[in-house]
Amino acid sequence: TGMNFDKYDENTVQVSGQDAPAPLMSFADTNMCDTLTMNISKAGYWKPTPVQKYSIPIILAGRDLMACAQTGSGKTAAFLVPVVAQMMRDGVTASAFKEQQEPECIITAPTRELIYQIFLEARKFVYGTCIRPVVIYGGTQTSYLIRQVEQGCNILCATPGRLLDIIGRGKIGLHNVKYLVLDEADRMLDMGFGKRQTLMFSATFPEEVQRLAYEFLKTDFIFVVVGCAG
Ligand code: ADP
Ligand code: MG
Repeated sequence: TGMNFDKYDENTVQVSGQDAPAPLMSFADTNMCDTLTMNISKAGYWKPTPVQKYSIPIILAGRDLMACAQTGSGKTAAFLVPVVAQMMRDGVTASAFKEQQEPECIITAPTRELIYQIFLEARKFVYGTCIRPVVIYGGTQTSYLIRQVEQGCNILCATPGRLLDIIGRGKIGLHNVKYLVLDEADRMLDMGFGKRQTLMFSATFPEEVQRLAYEFLKTDFIFVVVGCAG
């Protein structure tokens, strides 16, 4: 509401990688389900920000992505919108109570504030669908977190420490993970994920993150830089 992203439009956007799909000019230019389209407009998002314009079609095309754009440029919806769209397209089923959940999507961010914001945004976009997001982070009772997960979990938002903890406790299986999002990516271990689409988002692109990208992404990943992120 009242956010002005026009200043970002003046930024240069660099796209490298083979056969990158064309940018999206409007949220209406995808064939997302009506519920998601409605949730996007209810969120007050009238047009995609630059990082969203470039990232959404790349993710919808099933490609791995490393996207770099400054803080406040809309990176959260840049991955959540296409991930939810693909989950809806693939007919995700409501997850029932289970000792071990098999989420379709795992999102990590380094702090509880960041991961909680992502969770809140995910809740907006899945409203009215059977997709259930769950958030886990430090400082909350483990028994409470486990109960949250057991009740069903399609999208798991977790800080890295809690993610390792909950996997170690056997509460989360990784075989069904189709989307792995490393937001503010500066640390992540290979935890034995299977075949998946990996999406990395970052405000800056230091050498450490570049190394991660080359290590974790498929060799034909696409690299998008909005503005002159350092
Ligand atoms: P980043 O992760 O790049 O720092 P966020 O995803 O947190 O940025 O988005 C910053 C703010 O912009 C949030 O308040 C979010 O709700 C808002 N926002 C994101 N995309 C849009 C859009 N397309 N239209 C309007 N507001 C948006
Ligand atoms: Mg962010």
